[in-house]
Amino acid sequence: MIVGIDLGTTNSLVSAWTNEGITMIPNELGEYLTPSVVSFDADGTTYVGAVAKERLVTHAMSTFQEFKRDMGSKTEYKAFDKTYTATDLSALVLRQLKKDAEKFLGEPVNEVIISVPAYFTDEQRAATRNAGLIAGLHVNRLVNEPSAAALYYHSRHMEDAEQYLVFDFGGGTLDVTLVDAFENIIEIQGISGDNHLGGADFNHVIALEICKQNNMDLQSLTDMQRAQVYRHAEEVKMKLSGANEVSEDFFIHQEGGQLRMHVSMDTQRLIDISSEIFSRLTIVLKRLLNQAGSVSKDDIAGVIMVGGSSKMPAVRTYLYTLFGDKLLYDENPDEIVCRGAGCAAGIQQRSDGAKDLILTDICPFTLGVKIQGDIMSPIIHRNEVLPCSRTETYSTVRDRQTELRFAIYQGEFHQASKNKLLHTINLKIPPKPAGEVFVHVTFAYDINGIFAIELNSPYIENAVREEIMNTIGLSEEEIARRKARLEALRYEHGHYNLRMEMVINHAERLYAECNREQQEYLARYLDTLRHYLALGDTASAKGVADKLNALMEFIEKNMFRFDDRDANLWEQYLEHDNGEV
Ligand code: ADP
Ligand code: MG
Repeated sequence: MIVGIDLGTTNSLVSAWTNEGITMIPNELGEYLTPSVVSFDADGTTYVGAVAKERLVTHAMSTFQEFKRDMGSKTEYKAFDKTYTATDLSALVLRQLKKDAEKFLGEPVNEVIISVPAYFTDEQRAATRNAGLIAGLHVNRLVNEPSAAALYYHSRHMEDAEQYLVFDFGGGTLDVTLVDAFENIIEIQGISGDNHLGGADFNHVIALEICKQNNMDLQSLTDMQRAQVYRHAEEVKMKLSGANEVSEDFFIHQEGGQLRMHVSMDTQRLIDISSEIFSRLTIVLKRLLNQAGSVSKDDIAGVIMVGGSSKMPAVRTYLYTLFGDKLLYDENPDEIVCRGAGCAAGIQQRSDGAKDLILTDICPFTLGVKIQGDIMSPIIHRNEVLPCSRTETYSTVRDRQTELRFAIYQGEFHQASKNKLLHTINLKIPPKPAGEVFVHVTFAYDINGIFAIELNSPYIENAVREEIMNTIGLSEEEIARRKARLEALRYEHGHYNLRMEMVINHAERLYAECNREQQEYLARYLDTLRHYLALGDTASAKGVADKLNALMEFIEKNMFRFDDRDANLWEQYLEHDNGEV
């Protein structure tokens, strides 16, 4: 079975094409979104997803998020005595999704289609492919995220020829893409975006506002306090997606006690403090429509709203003023890319019902060779539709030249050496007058990101053919080594299971926000829970976990009311629950 995976910066999702069509696959907690967060313990125990996200505050040093930004780079993440690359951490997320899919589908999953941002470079694509291999998955192909979104819509509605604007507003990135769906071909026409604009920016302005309302300075808070303020800021943001105003109190950790905070905010205030975010968003949209030249609003069949931040009423209202009833809004915009990847998986499997669509890709950068004067001579141009193959002919510039050196570059600069050197090929040629010896250079770039170069000339005996993919990716041995290394980590958490982990990590996080009396209660429950788990007495552990959950729910719901004015609420609770466990 081939599954489709949206390996996101903030959240990852998996889907498959089953008898019922595209099917979203839930994780062990029954949720479709698995946070792209990985956390480690000193003994190598590894957590992925919601459990890891809970540990961002309590285990900040060994918990990692947003590593998609570093795909293909050499950045290292250090946890205890081990280091991981973004590829390794992504492999851990993929491994978890593979496991969840196998459990849900009841069959092995070895093949996958992964979506990547349209602007991802060759290296970033190779890194994604490698992450799949390390997770034990063959990456059948990579599909651009906006193409996947358009595929999902187009396969359901499928008019003849349509142009869509895909507006993908996620946790830390905004990608706007013009996609053409012509007959059964889906093609990218233009890309624009901001790599550092997303839901996190709203969290940031809300966090600043919270500090302002409490006469505090965000910068002077401790790391833990700041993390707590950000977490509450995100909660306020999400609440404002379902209500017009939020007014509440919460507590953050303070040496020897707790600090009470208040926040009140309504949709209009959120729009006011987010004006910079909206003007940056406008720039991205303008740039795209500009780039696309003759495209006007009327040419666009629909604006597909994608990504978690598209859920914000402020964002939807803003887009509505620009595009009116062209907006295509699905209830769960954060699932669309994954649904598209699942659709692509169905097409690949030739599943019944999966329409026979062809997905094309574009070459996201120019590929060429350096010619005299350090000039970039492009062979495949940026945005050319893949697969494609282009040939140019080059000849000698000096008399009696015996060698031709082809330096192959990737990038948009006219000065070749400013671009990225991918490869060099030196060709022996017979000495002749300048201009007499010529060589045909063919660049072929296929849909799977494999870039092949071929040199042909009547002056050389055999054609020279080289593939570049391998020099960018990891060697097979390296992949096997990394795979073995990740396999050696601990995933079975002893007697603990995922739900128990969730409860424990949740309680540890809450502990930091509570007053001393509440802390004592939490600690008592936690100790007892750990005690039963260590004994392997799962029945008793479950009983304690249920009680602990009820206690935490009560604390969180009534937190802001726990002060002198309403102390008896806690007492009332204690009457029902005397803390005996
Ligand atoms: P990515 O593509 O970056 O992995 P998503 O598309 O899942 O991420 O978007 C994640 C972002 O969406 C987060 O910043 C999150 O706070 C935001 N988000 C999710 N649900 C809501 C909601 N109901 N209201 C406002 N923002 C939301
Ligand atoms: Mg996304």
